[in-house]
Amino acid sequence: MIACLGRFVPENDVESRAENDDVSTICKSLGLKGSIDFGVGATNGSADKDFGGMYSYKPLAVIRPSGADDVAVVIKAAHLQSNLTVAARGNGHSINGQAMADRGLVIDMGSTGDSHFEIVKVKGSTYLDVSGGALWEDVLKRCVEDFGLAPRSWTDYLRLTVGGTLSNAGVSGQAFRYGPQISNVAQLDVVTGNGDMVTCSESRQPELFFNVLGGLGQFGIITRARVLLQSAPDKVRWIRLVYAEFDEFTRDAELLVSLKEERESFDYVEGFVFVNSDDTVNGWPSVPLDPAQVFDPAHLPQTAGSVLYCLEVALHYNNSDPRSAVDAVDAKCVSFEDVDHGFSSWVPQRIVPADSDKVKRLRFQGHVVDRLLERLGFVSKLNFPVDVSYVDFLLRVKLVEEHARANGMWDSPHPWLNMFVSKSNLAEFNRAVFNEILKDGINGPMLVYPLLRSKWDDRTSVMVPEEEIFYLVALLRFPPPHEDGASIKKLVDQNRGIVQYCKDRGFDFKLFFPHYKSEEEWKCHFGDRWTRFRDSKKAFDPKHILAPGQKIFSRISNEP
Ligand code: FAD
Repeated sequence: MIACLGRFVPENDVESRAENDDVSTICKSLGLKGSIDFGVGATNGSADKDFGGMYSYKPLAVIRPSGADDVAVVIKAAHLQSNLTVAARGNGHSINGQAMADRGLVIDMGSTGDSHFEIVKVKGSTYLDVSGGALWEDVLKRCVEDFGLAPRSWTDYLRLTVGGTLSNAGVSGQAFRYGPQISNVAQLDVVTGNGDMVTCSESRQPELFFNVLGGLGQFGIITRARVLLQSAPDKVRWIRLVYAEFDEFTRDAELLVSLKEERESFDYVEGFVFVNSDDTVNGWPSVPLDPAQVFDPAHLPQTAGSVLYCLEVALHYNNSDPRSAVDAVDAKCVSFEDVDHGFSSWVPQRIVPADSDKVKRLRFQGHVVDRLLERLGFVSKLNFPVDVSYVDFLLRVKLVEEHARANGMWDSPHPWLNMFVSKSNLAEFNRAVFNEILKDGINGPMLVYPLLRSKWDDRTSVMVPEEEIFYLVALLRFPPPHEDGASIKKLVDQNRGIVQYCKDRGFDFKLFFPHYKSEEEWKCHFGDRWTRFRDSKKAFDPKHILAPGQKIFSRISNEP
């Protein structure tokens, strides 16, 4: 809709016509096995758009490579041109134009999605060798259906590419135990900014390996990743627990992520903030997981404030597991087809009445769930359990997507803000941001859940706060469709205000999916790791060809 913040290339600009001619000559001479669109073909596609919908930079050509060889040919060709840049595009789910190349070449990695898919065993562990352009959704379906296996660490939404999330981190409710996705990769094939095809790992070219992980696409294009697998469970008990008090919510969330052993804690721990009102998107109705469940606010204590907190947990199990103990929680088996799906907190919303025939009582693993719930201080009677298949659980946001697409909210702009805030600053953040600035909600989920720094590898490029426990805070705004540019800008300004507040208060925090415009800001983001980041750029992409949409480095011209 708006492309309100980005710059369009003027259509009749003489300079850009000359560039188009040059690029068409270059592209024709490459001899790629894949395909190329240039001129109008390149600018009519989706390469100048992303999920954020706020920036639009038109490329000169879009390349659909058949594999790593084509990627290397394109980068080498860009090398020979004075100012040409190259952006890998995963599925374009960035917010601020990070996968775009202004008058450069966009490599659409989706065309390589099927190039690799192989289960390999190395020293007793099982891995998946998968293309950088593959969607995690396809990884899930193929791994579970064909092999009964699955990666250990996920993102909430799976129509993201392997290369795209590994260039950032890849975080979801499993990260407290296994670390982000970048902590679960053993080997990468990368085409560097020099056009070299390199296989790297912790022991082979480790500098490239660790720089690429969380490296914002700056050092190379990931064409294959080796991802650690575990056996996939059949089912998941998924539970929402409501808290009126922030302190109790964080105490319980931190307890669950700190329990060391599997089966001592849940397999998934997330949380979100919601509004203490009957607002269908931001309030109580956003919490229940099943149409038959009712959020009765009469259970809330008198002390409840303008916002409430919800801990979201899940426990894996198999159909063959013993179901001896009576389950105090009384979960229900829900088929997702029974439910209409809103997006208020990545949840199926209660819109369609329950079909009682399809709701089965299940007695399951009572001892594990009950033992854990007994230790938690959620508001009595405000707990919402369901049992779903493991695959449905991991695909939960796909249903939200369908709903949002149907009402036009998927394709409108998304001024999202993602950050990591250290535990010691979160209470103040909660008071100032959730309870004041955002007390009426944001028309979408406000995620907040703890992560452990010790599960993140400092050798990767991603930046996180200093403290051992820090929280992911995600403001996933879905403004109503047809909002004008000025309204979207207000939300962007509100995000900036929140970041500025954190800076002014001296918080220990980092932006996740960072977006800065000046070198000074990037230096500040990387802190004492800036020199390493800059020197690695010099080694692996000396002309600054790759990922120009991140706006960290400017292309170094070949011209004297
Ligand atoms: P793109 O947006 O296309 O690219 C992102 C960056 O990576 C660009 O700079 C691009 O040039 C570079 N890049 C892409 N492919 C490669 C490659 N093969 N090699 C090197 N560089 C590459 N993130 C989470 O961690 N957890 C979540 O739960 C989560 N949920 C999300 C839900 C939704 C609805 C959306 C829209 C995003 C979500 N994200 C989440 C964010 C997501 O991880 C980022 O958008 C990420 O950029 C991946 O998206 P993509 O594959 O479309 O990559």
